[in-house]
This record gives sequence, C-alpha cells and structure tokens, in this order.
Amino acid sequence: MNKLSIKLGLLFFLIIFGLETFMFFFLHSALVESRVEEELIALQTRGNSHRSILEKNFDDEIISHVTLMESEANTDVVITDKNGEVLNSSIPKERITNYIERPVNDISWEGHILEDNWKEEAFISTVSPIEINGQTAGHVYMFQSTESIHSLINRLNDHFLLTGLIAVCLTFVIIIILSKALTKPLIKMKEATSKISKGDFSVSLPKSGNDELGNLAESIQLLANDLNYLKQERNEFLASISHELRTPLTYIKGYTDIVYKRDLSNEDRDKYLNIILEETNRLSDLVKNLFNLAKIDENSFVIQKELLDLTDFIDKIEQKFTPAFQEKEMRFEVDCPEGQVLMADPSRLEQIIFNLLDNAIKYSSSGDKAILTVRNNNHTIHITIKDSGKGIPEKDIPYIFERFYRVDKSRTRALGGSGMGLAIVKELVHAHGGTIKIKSEENKGTEFELIFIGADKNENNSISR
Ligand code: ADP
Repeated sequence: MNKLSIKLGLLFFLIIFGLETFMFFFLHSALVESRVEEELIALQTRGNSHRSILEKNFDDEIISHVTLMESEANTDVVITDKNGEVLNSSIPKERITNYIERPVNDISWEGHILEDNWKEEAFISTVSPIEINGQTAGHVYMFQSTESIHSLINRLNDHFLLTGLIAVCLTFVIIIILSKALTKPLIKMKEATSKISKGDFSVSLPKSGNDELGNLAESIQLLANDLNYLKQERNEFLASISHELRTPLTYIKGYTDIVYKRDLSNEDRDKYLNIILEETNRLSDLVKNLFNLAKIDENSFVIQKELLDLTDFIDKIEQKFTPAFQEKEMRFEVDCPEGQVLMADPSRLEQIIFNLLDNAIKYSSSGDKAILTVRNNNHTIHITIKDSGKGIPEKDIPYIFERFYRVDKSRTRALGGSGMGLAIVKELVHAHGGTIKIKSEENKGTEFELIFIGADKNENNSISR
C-alpha cells in the first residue's frame, strides 16, 4: 500500500471512528435515560393506581390486599399513614427505611419521584399521596430494585459493543476500498509524470470523470501528447535542416575540389566559382531564414507597428519588383486605392509581400501575370497576391505552410527554394494579428490573401511612407 492511501485511510478512519464513538455514546446514554424514565413512570403509575384504590377504602383489608399483590410482582410497595408510620409493606422495612424517612410534604396528587439514581442506589422509588376529603391520609411508596435496570443496561451494552465492532470493521473495509480508489488515479498520474520526465511520452491515462482529478489526468495526457508532438517535430526539423545543409555543402566541396585540383580554363573556373557562390548564397539565406524562424519561435522578435500609408508602401514594392517580373517576361499589376492605411511593421510586411511575390515569379512561366490588390472591406484590409502560374496540387495545399515543405523538391531546389518562405510568411502574418488564406489550382494559378485589422487614419498623426 502506498503512503498517500495509508495517510488518507488513517485520516478518514480517525474522523469516522471519532464520529461513530460520539454517536454511539450519545445513543447509548439517550436509550438508558429513556429506559429508566419509562421504568419510573410505570412505577409511579402503579403507585397512583394503588393510591386510587386506597382512597376509596383506606382500611386494613385493602392495605394488605395491595401489599399482597405487590409481593408477587418485581416491584414493592410500602403504605404509610399521615405521620409516616408504616402500615404495611411488601419488603422488609429496614431495606427501605432511609427512603421513607425523607420528607414528602407538599407533593402533588400526581406523585413524586423519590429516587432516580439507578447507578448508585439499590432502588428507584416513587411516592403518591393518599388524600381523603382533601386531607393527606397517608402515602404509597413504590420501589423497584436497580438490579433489573443494571442487567437491562448490561444487555444493551452487549448489543452496542457488537454493533460497534461490526461498524468499525465495515468502516475499515470501506475506507481501504475508498482510499485505494481515490489514490489509484493519482498513482497512475505520478507514474505517468515520472515517465514523461525520463523522456518517454507514450503515456495513456484513462479518463476518470469530470472532477479535479479527471481534469488533472487530462492535462497530463495533453502535456504528454504535446511533448511527443514537439519531439517528433524537432526530430523531423533536425533531419530536414541537416538534409538542407548537406546538399549545398556537397556542391561547394565538390566544386572547390575541382577548381583547386584541376587545370581548368578561365571560363570553366568562373563557371564553377559561380556555382560555389550561388550555393554559398543559398546557405546564407537558409541560415538567415532559420534564424528568423528561431526568433519567431522563442517570441524574442519584436513587431514594431506603425501607421503605414499602404498606397505609398505598395508603390515602392512595385518599383522594386517590376524589373524581376520583366526579366521573367511576366506582367505585374498593382491595384491599390488611394488613402489606405494599416498598422504594421514595415520591414516585416515587406518581407511577407516579398516572399509571396518571389514565389509568384519562381512558380510561373514567361507570359504569366501577377496582380497585387489592396482592398478595404468593413474595417479589414485585404492584400491579395494572385498569379497565373503553375498552381499547387490540391493534396499539397494543407501542408504548404509547414517548414521545409516543397511541392516538387528537385524543381524547387533548382529555383532556389528551401520550403521556408511560406512558414515565415504565416508566422509574421500571425504576429501582426492577421490571417492568411490560400486558393490554388494546378496549372491555373495561386492566390494568397492576407487579412489584417484595419487602422483608423486619425489614430496616429505621423504616417510612415
Ligand atoms: P520555397 O522557398 O521552396 O519557395 P515556400 O515556403 O515559399 O518555399 O513555398 C513552399 C512550396 O509551395 C514551394 O516549394 C512551392 O512548391 C509551393 N508554392 C509556393 N508559392 C507558390 C506559388 N505562388 N505558385 C505555385 N506554387 C507555390
């Protein structure tokens, strides 16, 4: 048995045992009191009925008749005259002298309890006055030996002892079962948490109701699942990073060897050095992106929002990107109404739009076109980047924002993609409190829609352009 269940069980047992003992004592003394009271009332009633007979005929014959009747019962009677002289008695006089010598003046006709101390005295006793013509003619004393009360109480004690023992045993058994049932989920949770602390997240805690223990078990299960997911994600992430790093490094090493060892023409050397340069740039981009994502993950990067004049901002982006679109022989259109403002971090927003436009160029062919649209719709700003490029297969769309996810790995790599662009875009949009949606159809084109909460033009006087 574990320590907690012993502690709990002992505590419950002590509390319930204390309560039971108190209740048993209370019940016992109440029962004894009421039994003694019943005996006293019966004694007094019997004395009163003798008194009634004697009030009708207070003569020797009736007195001895009453005395005779009582000598056959387990009670006794003593009849005295008005001066306290014993006229007749069913019990030897010396046994009851100290009772009948007690003053009994001014007692009501209903009678009086003379002695009720059943614990110490030999008798319990009552007295009833005999009144004839308004005058006290004598008294009827009734006696009952306390031995019979003692034996009655002894029998009662035996019953109480037996019932008490049964109650204690039952309490003990119930408490053992209860405390085990109560601590079982706790022990399971303890085992689960120590398993988690050792790095084993494969715990399975059964759902044990909607109480605090059930909620705790659910939280531990959730924690284990999350940690398991994070562990898997980290492993996948590390595998992807090492894969991503290995490819450019292999190229760099291979071409450096060639340039270093072989006798090459100037033209070939330039070609190979160019490849080395490209791969080095790719590596540095990769590391930069990884660094950005790591910063986003640990929430250490800051979004410095300011009120942007979107019209101006988009105009500058158009100027920067037009040459790239021209080089790819693509059309690039911008549709942004005058006077649009947005609270955003300009450099981060630029990075978002840059990544999306860069993809539009990378995954389209010459003759295709891309449109950047800004709309203000019910206090939300919608920035849409739509291209007529190769599109994304439906099955890939749910994973498109995952890190290192690329639809066509070999082709994308050739285009310089590492599968990090959209992951960064999504994180940056969320950091702005916005959302991103994607619509894409293979061979028709792709549309990314960014939705931000709109800003009030009067919110800030200094609008950044
Ligand atoms: P990458 O650096 O490989 O471009 P991204 O995260 O930006 O990584 O994109 C992930 C993948 O989504 C890309 O490899 C590409 O297959 C697909 N993709 C992204 N944008 C587009 C687009 N505009 N048109 C078609 N495919 C796209």
